[in-house]
Amino acid sequence: MINKVISKALAGISPSATEETSFMANKLKRQGIDIISFAQGEPDFDTPDNIKKAAIIAIKEGFTKYTDVPGIPELRKAVADKFKRENGIDYEPDQIIISNGGKQALYEVFRAICEEGDQVLIPTPCYVSYAEQIKLAGAEPVFFKAKEENNFRPIFEEVKANLTPRVKAFIINSPNNPTGSIVEKEQLKKIAKLLVKREVYMITDEVYEHLVYDGKDHVSVASLGKKEKEMSITVNSVSKTYAMTGWRVGYAAGPQEIIKAMSNLQGHATGNVNSIAQKATIEALNGTQEPVRNMVKEYEKRREYMVKRLNEIEGIRCQYPDGAFYTFPNVTDLYGKKYNGNIIGNDIDVAKFFLEKAHVAVVPGVAFNYSGYVRFVFAKSTEEIKEGLNRIEKAIKELK
Ligand code: PMP
Repeated sequence: MINKVISKALAGISPSATEETSFMANKLKRQGIDIISFAQGEPDFDTPDNIKKAAIIAIKEGFTKYTDVPGIPELRKAVADKFKRENGIDYEPDQIIISNGGKQALYEVFRAICEEGDQVLIPTPCYVSYAEQIKLAGAEPVFFKAKEENNFRPIFEEVKANLTPRVKAFIINSPNNPTGSIVEKEQLKKIAKLLVKREVYMITDEVYEHLVYDGKDHVSVASLGKKEKEMSITVNSVSKTYAMTGWRVGYAAGPQEIIKAMSNLQGHATGNVNSIAQKATIEALNGTQEPVRNMVKEYEKRREYMVKRLNEIEGIRCQYPDGAFYTFPNVTDLYGKKYNGNIIGNDIDVAKFFLEKAHVAVVPGVAFNYSGYVRFVFAKSTEEIKEGLNRIEKAIKELK
């Protein structure tokens, strides 16, 4: 029945696994069960006050009409200034588009540059939406595994070994969701040089750029040189940095003709980003960065606590993430164990076991094309992290 109704293009698209896990956890919550969720990838902090105030002023001043599709000039300028100041890249405002979250910007990039038959190469573990968006653009996602022993950081040799003539673009997501790993600068330089030579676009998703720890640095591939800049589209968003996930503001920068094509698509699909949220974003980028520094300090403490505590639990092995707010521990030592007559055989079973027995929600690694692991979010209060991990430890101790 459904096959007759749903288009071929959409019938092959799966729902976002992270959203599904949250949905299951929320269902249990509604039944009155006290669930601790480490599933939803968003800051637990509120949007800083200066940003909220800018939105309130925009409403009071009646800034409530359609705007230019790719964003108001003042915001495109603020984004250009941000790229110059923070990333060392010179983009003109007409090389920038403001979109409904980094998510829409990514979708538009794939739609703008991909043809049927093209491949987009993605290191895994990877963010859940890339593959589905690429398929929606008529292209084919192809994957290679970044190794756990390299702390999930993709390396030059792996990229080289997986490049085919059909690869149109390569995705760089540093810091990465779900592992937090950062592509090391020397590797990034070598990878970029190779891709420029092979005329492969680099789609660089930098939404976690400010959430980096241990004094590590984020490097934008477009800052490495003129050719690197010409061959890359930099995608970013205020969602994670400024705790603004619900405002839906992201942006992309790159060659003008690509940005123009993205803007044409956006114009017919959604139009401009919410006018009030655009004004708030100007304040986020141009205003005080103190709240960001405070949030990062807090995440760093929670990361330390979570990784240490996870490693104390039998059956779980966890590395320190370089950035973002995720840990991605190996849970394969739990395979073969039994609870309620069920045998744990994969990471979906582990996530189910955590949810049913410990009332803790996590996302199984398979959602990120990387089985054997689960993703925990540490954008949670230390009390919740403590309680959630205590519950998991207790549940594991009861396993046979
Ligand atoms: N890229 C990555 C790697 C993400 O984790 C997310 C959000 N989870 C996004 C892009 C999109 O975020 P937003 O649309 O809120 O900017």
